[in-house]
Amino acid sequence: MRRSLVVGNWKMNGTRASAELLAKGIIAGLGSDVADIAVCVPYVYIPYIADLVKDSPLALGSQNIADQASGAYTGEISASMLKELNCQYALVGHSERRSYYGDTNESVAARFSQAQAQGIIPILCVGETLEQREQDQTFAVIDEQLDAVINLVGIPAFYNAVIAYEPVWAIGTGKTATDEQAQEVHCYIRKYIAAKDQVIADKIQILYGGSAKPDNAKGLFAMPDIDGGLIGGASLDAESFLKIYHSV
Ligand code: PEP
Repeated sequence: MRRSLVVGNWKMNGTRASAELLAKGIIAGLGSDVADIAVCVPYVYIPYIADLVKDSPLALGSQNIADQASGAYTGEISASMLKELNCQYALVGHSERRSYYGDTNESVAARFSQAQAQGIIPILCVGETLEQREQDQTFAVIDEQLDAVINLVGIPAFYNAVIAYEPVWAIGTGKTATDEQAQEVHCYIRKYIAAKDQVIADKIQILYGGSAKPDNAKGLFAMPDIDGGLIGGASLDAESFLKIYHSV
């Protein structure tokens, strides 16, 4: 039985004060230990949030990670720096990074590898655009996104990784994939991994992301291959995020 995981992606929102308030609100409302839970916070707030979460079940993550270990890469934040601040997770290949900042399948694979080299669990985001879905390319796009990483690090690396299926057309748009649409792709991803390693396929957490909200999370999380969620907008409010967490 896989344990579920709910991850908040705060994106580029908030102030130090609002970020601290949000983290405290989440910790205060966690209640019983129903699933793993983490927040991926803006880089500059990581040290402050790290302090707040240190004796709680709330784990900390970054929203990106450098594709190099160290050196002359102005503006980048390395895996070892994030490790020093107790980051347990790092998002890699979020669609906003792929579409606005030029992340490619190859650079995403390098970020995945850098995270793992420091013992940080990469959350590999994959998913198709609306155009790709309409042209029946969903599975081909996901194959390419997964293959780039598998080719660089090998399938055993997925033993310590998370995959997030995030249809690009559902992120921040209010359009959620139906439970069945999401399950179809999650099942596809699990089978794709199973063809290479059944043990990893049975173990790996595959999260759904894309306008998940308190009122649709329960249905999504009830699907057999959906092991939790990557939550954007609804993670900025402690009450909504906790409702989603408690839907697991
Ligand atoms: C995300 O940013 O990963 C995401 C799923 O955003 P939202 O929940 O706002 O669609």
